[in-house]
Amino acid sequence: MKVPLLDLKMQYQSIKSEIDAAIFKVIESQYFILGPEVKALEEELLKYLNCNYAIGVSSGTDALLIALMAIDIQPGDEVIVPTYSFFSTAGVVSRLNATPVFADIDPITFNISPNEIEKRITNKTKAIIPVHLYGQSADMQPIIEIAKKYSLFVVEDGAQAIGVQYKDGRTVGTIGDIGCFSFFPSKNLGCFGDGGLVATNNKELADRLKILRMHGAEPKYYHKIIGGNFRLDALQAAVIRVKLKYLDSWSQRRRENADLYTKLFIENNLAEEARKINLDAKNKVLLPKAIYKDGKLRNYHIYNQYIIQVEKRDELREFLTNEEIGTEIYYPVPFHRQECFAELKYNDSDFPVSNFVAEHSLALPVFPELTEEQIKFVVEKIKEFVNHKEQ
Ligand SMILES: *Cc1c(COP(=O)(O)O)cnc(C)c1O
Repeated sequence: MKVPLLDLKMQYQSIKSEIDAAIFKVIESQYFILGPEVKALEEELLKYLNCNYAIGVSSGTDALLIALMAIDIQPGDEVIVPTYSFFSTAGVVSRLNATPVFADIDPITFNISPNEIEKRITNKTKAIIPVHLYGQSADMQPIIEIAKKYSLFVVEDGAQAIGVQYKDGRTVGTIGDIGCFSFFPSKNLGCFGDGGLVATNNKELADRLKILRMHGAEPKYYHKIIGGNFRLDALQAAVIRVKLKYLDSWSQRRRENADLYTKLFIENNLAEEARKINLDAKNKVLLPKAIYKDGKLRNYHIYNQYIIQVEKRDELREFLTNEEIGTEIYYPVPFHRQECFAELKYNDSDFPVSNFVAEHSLALPVFPELTEEQIKFVVEKIKEFVNHKEQ
């Protein structure tokens, strides 16, 4: 049985007529840059996220970059980021000639550990970028408290977490100063190319973000500040507007798929629940945990990825590949181990959790259209591998 990691063709087929009509409408209008389609999407997204301003931009990476430009990150400033995330989170800091300062993560949520943040604050620290990795909120309350105490900005990287709620019910990306989202095709709300969004409740920051998106000009051709072309395409906006209506039902399907995996791993006596201290996965499968599940939240986790951790991760991946089961390793190399950040001279042993996760994590297929049979097949194959390894 073939089980791809992600199958976007199935999603497209299910809404093809709506998508095609929306794209055709933009083509007929020949209005491709910003305009009514982007404006309408921004209105819909600020309602969906429950914030004051939503501004469409060219990608999730550009959302982070423009956010740091809006809060005026300067050369030499320090920005604290988790060492375990997608590259953009740290890359954008270096692109402004500022210094990314790495912090270790929490072993259960994979998100930045608030205790690790405070240790790394200096008089150069300007901002913190918590990432809501894999579709679950970082612990925002202590992060906001630290930011207040030291007068720091908080830029949330919600690229994998659109619509996700923190334990207090607020939507991620609206808790800090600016929230950043990506519409890369493999995200829960993906477009047909690159796209992104910045969200904020602060009018001053929103005005700055809008100006920065258009080369820093206001009005046109009068440049107050140096910005860039960070615009979202009208065609992408049209696609996202159609998909937004389905986002919550797709994320619900992902949660159901995740719950089925978890149930099957437990039933098959393969599961080891994620714990605070013990990082040993032995001959078991360390399961992901939705820590806000027992609250009354609609979107406590949207499972952009379902991440297990196993001892012989690379061997398991090869075994599953041979069985035509798609998997991925997110992220094999934490930032402090990346060649491009070597000059920052980090001590590898300062990041035990990130190192462990990078060496043991494996993403299993969890996309909405996955069938029960496919999930059962994946668990069966993992059981076969683990039992074989035990002998
Ligand atoms: C995808 C992603 C980004 C970058 O988004 P793009 O749209 O691909 O530029 C940034 N941060 C995280 C955590 C991501 O997963």
